Amino acid sequence: MNRPGKIVCVGRNYVEHAKELGNAMPTEPLIFLKPPSSVIASGAAIELPPQSKQVEFEGEIGVVIGRRLRHVREADAAAGIAGLVAVNDVTARDLQNTDGQWTRAKGFDTFCAIGEPAPPPADLAAVEVVTRVNGAERQRAKAAQMAFAIPRLIAYISGIMTLEPGDLIATGTPAGVGPLAPGDTVEVELVGLSLVRNSVVRAP
Ligand code: ZN
Repeated sequence: MNRPGKIVCVGRNYVEHAKELGNAMPTEPLIFLKPPSSVIASGAAIELPPQSKQVEFEGEIGVVIGRRLRHVREADAAAGIAGLVAVNDVTARDLQNTDGQWTRAKGFDTFCAIGEPAPPPADLAAVEVVTRVNGAERQRAKAAQMAFAIPRLIAYISGIMTLEPGDLIATGTPAGVGPLAPGDTVEVELVGLSLVRNSVVRAP
């Protein structure tokens, strides 16, 4: 897929994932940005940087924006979706915990693996995301389990910053996150829609 103009990510959007990290659920969507330079395609390697000892996968449902959206209403938000993509929001968990904010932990090169986009199905809540490491299933959830549903996220974000065609929203990860090691293969699938598969190496 083309490199997005901006990548807006949502934190703590599944109750069970907030619990596993010991976090309270936010009362409004919690958003942060990843740099477009972090994007890699399926087949490229995720590079573990020397600054971190704990890099983790986060399988997520990605939403590619199809038209300019500013202050869009929730009821109109789905019409602004160009496609859905599998996303791995790779995270240096140790740096996320020690830094005051998440730019470094989320922003390393290769930390945003993205599959090919598929047209969005009519029922967004039924979309299912699955993460596997070396073939073993580690995460599985449906969009219906999100605290803030996809149309709500689009409406909320478009009230803060204009969403442009090609922008990507990573809608948050469900429970089951865990570490990646050199030699691993990690894949995130939106069942029947999109798949991103990456090897893991130490940064050269
Ligand atoms: Zn995430």
